[in-house]
Amino acid sequence: MIIDCHGHYTTAPAAVGRWRDEQIAAVAADPAFGGGDAGPEVDDAEIRKTIESAQLRAQRQRGIDLTLFSPRASWMGHHIGNAATSLHWTRLQNEMIRRVCDLFPTSFAPVCQLPQSPGVPIDASVAELERCVVEMEFVGCNVNPDPSGGLWTGPPLWDDYWAPLWDKLCELDVPAMIHVSTSVNQNLHTTSSHYLAADTTAFMQALTSGFMSGFPGLRWIIPHGGGAVPYHWGRLVGMAADKGWDFDAVLEHVYFDTCVYHQRGVDLLVDVVPHENILFGSEMIGAVRGIDPATGRHYDDTRFYLDNAGLDDAAERAIFSGNARRVFPRLADRLPPEEDTP
Ligand SMILES: [Zn+2]
Repeated sequence: MIIDCHGHYTTAPAAVGRWRDEQIAAVAADPAFGGGDAGPEVDDAEIRKTIESAQLRAQRQRGIDLTLFSPRASWMGHHIGNAATSLHWTRLQNEMIRRVCDLFPTSFAPVCQLPQSPGVPIDASVAELERCVVEMEFVGCNVNPDPSGGLWTGPPLWDDYWAPLWDKLCELDVPAMIHVSTSVNQNLHTTSSHYLAADTTAFMQALTSGFMSGFPGLRWIIPHGGGAVPYHWGRLVGMAADKGWDFDAVLEHVYFDTCVYHQRGVDLLVDVVPHENILFGSEMIGAVRGIDPATGRHYDDTRFYLDNAGLDDAAERAIFSGNARRVFPRLADRLPPEEDTP
């Protein structure tokens, strides 16, 4: 069994984008705008078409059984509008993900976005997380460490501001992928500099603060192969030794996905990071959509790199599905027992 821990609905029907554009225009004209109407009209046939022609087709070609599926990350846009528009947009997006997972229950499991907004208490995000997990059987969420969109004006992840969200994640026993959205800072390109810097930043906020020891069940997935962390492992381990930071304690809480789009990058990842801390992911269909002329395969076909990384059976099993089962325990309801999978 192969579980992809990182997929977004990047091919959502055009009506969804149009609805959001109208909402953005409305809140630009009136900063107190309350959120908008009931949402875009999208029928099931259209959802089927957008999935079957894209993510599902690639999943089948690559032999991926199940993808943990969340709303398009660059569209979260927490910096846009106000708390009400963020909440309304977020709920619509999460409900769209629920529909995809209802239409393809064996191929996708739902992961939610949160209605974050700069300068606003985290309470609405806690409530939406609970709604998604308890009422709609979501198995995880995405947390944006920088809802300002590349300006980093908010409190770091170790600040007490976030504690109610970490408590709720522990209570519900679901993990968070720490995943930024669009950058409004012209110094930072969204899916390269901003994403990878945020991944590295999240890890460092955990390492330098040690705050995760106060939340024993808290689990984060740091996407995009962990940003610069695996490549600079020695720098960070060395700093931790100098400064008295507990590096190993962070690894009890933090996992890295495999969204690294070349063989030598994946080789480094699996060579450096303990295998129990790696979850298979591809973020397909995402930031890089082309084919590598050197391999004839899509850059984001990360299964190909892992298949060629020289892993033993135990490591393959852990990275492709075993670790995901541990990190996302709510998947157990929808999967056959691990011992029954080939
Ligand atoms: Zn992503």
